[in-house]
Amino acid sequence: MLGPPGAGKGTQAERLHEDFGLPHIATGDILRAEVSNGTELGSEAKRYMDDGELVPDSVIIEMITQRVNADDARDGFLLDGFPRNEQQANALRDALDALERRLNAALLIAVPDEELVRRLAGRRVCVKNPTHIYHVEFDPPKHEDVCDQDGARLIQRDDDREETIRRRLRVYHSQTEPLIAYYDDAGLLRRFDGCRSPDEVHDHIRATVATLKLEEEL
Ligand SMILES: [Zn+2]
Repeated sequence: MLGPPGAGKGTQAERLHEDFGLPHIATGDILRAEVSNGTELGSEAKRYMDDGELVPDSVIIEMITQRVNADDARDGFLLDGFPRNEQQANALRDALDALERRLNAALLIAVPDEELVRRLAGRRVCVKNPTHIYHVEFDPPKHEDVCDQDGARLIQRDDDREETIRRRLRVYHSQTEPLIAYYDDAGLLRRFDGCRSPDEVHDHIRATVATLKLEEEL
């Protein structure tokens, strides 16, 4: 899954997981799980995190490799959150080559920056219960900044502030966006219009994955 932060990659991956039974490998999630389970790789990753350093690509790729080798990933998998740059893409390709596995497609959910800012910066979260989520434009509470369900105050999380979103988008454009050309050159890119409703995006991606699956079985 490829696309900017806020494009809905995780949501779409979950739905594809339901459609096709493909495990959704969200690298952020498996990293957190390995750390909290105290596995060998998790402990190694934690040492970097405790020192305030980025977890090296080799550690993340080792986690992905293990996950891809699990029984439920035999017929395929959805990778979400990795690779984020060309160097990681090359390392991933080499690791999959060694397993005699490969990527069949790079599913790009394309959304313009202004739309992402509108979506993310409008989010408001209840201070009492973070599952109470609103949007000032698309799903406003009855009373401004007050939770409909428990009357608690609604806040904007730091992650949803416009300057934070724009910073993440700059990183995406400079580091991850080159992967669009990278996977296009490899003949793997499939592009989806992320401005459409999540249901429409899902329908389009599902049809594409179904076709890829058929081609694979021929
Ligand atoms: Zn609430």
